[in-house]
Amino acid sequence: MTDPSALHRLEAALGPRGWSRDPERISPKLVEWRDRWRGATPFLALPSTTAQVAAVIGICADAGLSVTPQGGNTGLVGGQIPQGEILLSTERLNAIRDIDTADDVLVAEAGVTLSEAHAAALKVGRRFPLDLASQGSATIGGLISTNAGGTAVLRYGTMRGLVLGLEAVLPDGQIWNGLRRLRKDNTGYDLKQLLIGAEGTLGVVTAAALKLYPALASRAVAVAGLSSVAAAVDLLKLAKETAGGDLEAFEIICALGMEMAAAKRPGARTPLESHPPWYVLIEIASPGADRAKPALEDLLTEALSRGLADDAVIAASETQAQALWALREGQSEAQKGEGPVWKHDVSLPISRVADFIDEAGKALGSRFPGVRIDAFGHVGDGNIHYDVLGPPGGDPARHAEARHEGARIVHDLVNSLGGSISAEHGLGIMKTEEARRYKSAVEITALEAVRSALDPKGIMNPRVLFSASWPHA
Ligand SMILES: Cc1cc2nc3c(=O)[nH]c(=O)nc-3n(C[C@H](O)[C@H](O)[C@H](O)COP(=O)(O)OP(=O)(O)OC[C@H]3O[C@@H](n4cnc5c(N)ncnc54)[C@H](O)[C@@H]3O)c2cc1C
Repeated sequence: MTDPSALHRLEAALGPRGWSRDPERISPKLVEWRDRWRGATPFLALPSTTAQVAAVIGICADAGLSVTPQGGNTGLVGGQIPQGEILLSTERLNAIRDIDTADDVLVAEAGVTLSEAHAAALKVGRRFPLDLASQGSATIGGLISTNAGGTAVLRYGTMRGLVLGLEAVLPDGQIWNGLRRLRKDNTGYDLKQLLIGAEGTLGVVTAAALKLYPALASRAVAVAGLSSVAAAVDLLKLAKETAGGDLEAFEIICALGMEMAAAKRPGARTPLESHPPWYVLIEIASPGADRAKPALEDLLTEALSRGLADDAVIAASETQAQALWALREGQSEAQKGEGPVWKHDVSLPISRVADFIDEAGKALGSRFPGVRIDAFGHVGDGNIHYDVLGPPGGDPARHAEARHEGARIVHDLVNSLGGSISAEHGLGIMKTEEARRYKSAVEITALEAVRSALDPKGIMNPRVLFSASWPHA
């Protein structure tokens, strides 16, 4: 049982609005949005300042209480759902502290949502270029802690490349103010890079200085139909050569995914009459007015003439562009009602993506006859969401039971092709054990040593990522 005196100290440090033990208030934070994980906590901490976060972590370190930080609860690997730990929500750390167009920087607290950061940047003619479908709820702290990716990584990189500085509370309760705005700072180990992608295991991110870019003045969106993944990889090469830095997104969708998304969206249909086996959504965007559409037209003309694409349609308006993007962003949602889905968020060297899709399909098809492959994702950076649905009319329970065996086949293949079993979602509680299989003992020992140096009591998100004390103690 949790020490009641420690909980009273937490209440006193947080003030009457800063905590809750009301099950109704807490319960939405204990369920992952797909209901894949459910959790429990004795106490919800709702700090509104960095000093309050420091007080919470200090009390927890002193009393030996474990803590799970949570932002928007959109994470896909379960790391934000506590299993008995104190739950520290960043929902009240929601101020935009500064925005500066000389430094091109936005300083936002951890609980600011990605949509709020976008809007703040746009107000001053700038852009914060991380884009993903959960932007209305996902927070800056969560995006940093999972090193989020999304659809514009091809052009701007992951969150790791978009953070200039961080403020965080370390596992002993000390505040680290690293909110620098420097593009160059070569002074040894980089503490902020350790915290980025740490999934709440090395402390609580409380604020970040984020890089801004010029706002875009023109964008053009198209969908092309292709006969193979190999053609998509060739088309990507051509797009990079012709559009250069203006290539904003390059996303692949298989026919099954496109058909399911179109069928489940009221008023939507698949964008090409030719019904190709593969679709590629291409966006070119530019800070220069009227530059994007001609560049996209040139690219598609060349792609059709070289036989890389068989068919294509360019959005004639912003509404049509959004409708094409909705088909891409509705991919996961479209799987609802199709029974259990084995989800794999993998990355490969771009040159091996076609081999992976071909070989994985054959291996799974021979072991599990009839399974349906729903592959889509950020092929521009080698990241495929390789999802596997059960056979039509098959037994959902049987398909669910075979999930681990299927994942082993997919992940072993990814590893043999030089890829990663988690491209952008992190490890959380879902993939940590699986990741041990593919990282060397040398790497795991070094990572565990870093963790225990910063968090010797092991209080921060103990079930997540590599830890010498969990679950192998
Ligand atoms: C529809 C949908 C689409 C998505 N698309 C993408 C995509 O394209 N690319 C992508 O990368 N991800 C994607 N995601 C995943 C998700 O949005 C990200 O993982 C997001 O970064 C999590 O942010 P959050 O605020 O919801 O964090 P949470 O889910 O609350 O937490 C995630 C992890 O970060 C830790 N954490 C949260 N806040 C802090 C903090 N302040 N300090 C320390 N640790 C903290 C938690 O303990 C947990 O381990 C998608 C999710 C959904 C639902």
